[in-house]
Amino acid sequence: MKLNVKNIRYLSPDDWRVLTAAEMGSRNHELVPTPLIAQIAGIRSGSGVHNSISNLAKIGLIAKIKNAKYDGYRLTYGGLDYLALHTHTKSGVMYSVGNQIGVGKESDIYVCADETGKQLVLKIHRLGRISFRTVKANRDYLRNRNSGSWMYMSRLAALKEFEFMKALRREGFPVPEPVGQSRHTVVMSLIDSFPLRQISSVGDPASLYAELLSLIVQLAQYGLIHGDFNEFNILVEEREEEDGTVALIPTIIDFPQMVSIDHANAEYYFDRDVACIKRFFSRRFGFTSDEPGPYFKDSIKTVKKRLDVEVEASGFSKKMAKELAAYMKEHGVDGDAGEAEREDGSDADEGSEPEQEIEVEDLVPAEDTPLEDLILEKDLSPAALASQM
Ligand code: ADP
Ligand code: MG
Repeated sequence: MKLNVKNIRYLSPDDWRVLTAAEMGSRNHELVPTPLIAQIAGIRSGSGVHNSISNLAKIGLIAKIKNAKYDGYRLTYGGLDYLALHTHTKSGVMYSVGNQIGVGKESDIYVCADETGKQLVLKIHRLGRISFRTVKANRDYLRNRNSGSWMYMSRLAALKEFEFMKALRREGFPVPEPVGQSRHTVVMSLIDSFPLRQISSVGDPASLYAELLSLIVQLAQYGLIHGDFNEFNILVEEREEEDGTVALIPTIIDFPQMVSIDHANAEYYFDRDVACIKRFFSRRFGFTSDEPGPYFKDSIKTVKKRLDVEVEASGFSKKMAKELAAYMKEHGVDGDAGEAEREDGSDADEGSEPEQEIEVEDLVPAEDTPLEDLILEKDLSPAALASQM
């Protein structure tokens, strides 16, 4: 599931139409019938479509499913990657992709740049790759479920991350600047920093500690709990001050697991975030504070704004939030919690993507695609299509 952008510039406009058509057909077909792809793409001459289909299949952007009952293709993660990059390029968000700088359990992180050469970060959400590969039973179980598409969940995770980043940034929280979002990807500013995890000593742990705990409290006052507030998701920038001292500026990242202060287990998540920081500072810097807390109940006594409610109204709906939360819970998606055990930081899960995909009930609409109107609201079953041809 490596991002390979080598072929992106060789795709013709027809290839892009066909790829978009495969994506749109995926909304209600696990395997999109070939005639449906042709129909949605609206390319009249038969051979054009078939050339494009074979091009796309050759470079792995669409694929056949083994033992399928009819002729068709599914969109692969590679295909989804290309569509997202294409949208970012068209909208001027991004111009080139560079090195991979991170491999999380549920995401890949790349440096990229816009037209002016300004460096940015591209985060590609890849929910499901762990649970699909490691637990075979899970795969079978998921295949029988209708709404469990991991591509769909990755889109939800990206959308959630982007919406929260926007809201937090607007309120002045130290988070990257959100630049763009398409499908399962988010583009944001690059923070010139190291994760707290890589920092072996700091001159004054007390002030960084206080600042981080204060951020947890302030988040709660804005209706939110990060839920994965640990040394991997806190980036620390070293900035030299005028007086020659070095200030440590934290930036918070990674928001797909963020929860509302109304969540049934809100206090548990709040306490866990606090405990993460306390444990890390004690182990790494030998620093412990005499002050107890902070406590959830005190923090929410003065709620200043409800970003949780605001974001729900903006585009990441309550229904989406529920779907994503249920999925993450089911699959033990708990952010970087287990990361500390994997000291080498290697990705144990590299390899091919799962062979089977799940039926997609309702994908988030693809952005700004002129093909949108061509989706037929009628019966799209292969039989119905065949009768139309
Ligand atoms: P995951 O969900 O896989 O944990 P994160 O968003 O936490 O993904 O990013 C993983 C790693 O990538 C981070 O620990 C950090 O090293 C790097 N990273 C992510 N976003 C940025 C950014 N905006 N600027 C610099 N580095 C980043
Ligand atoms: Mg992380």
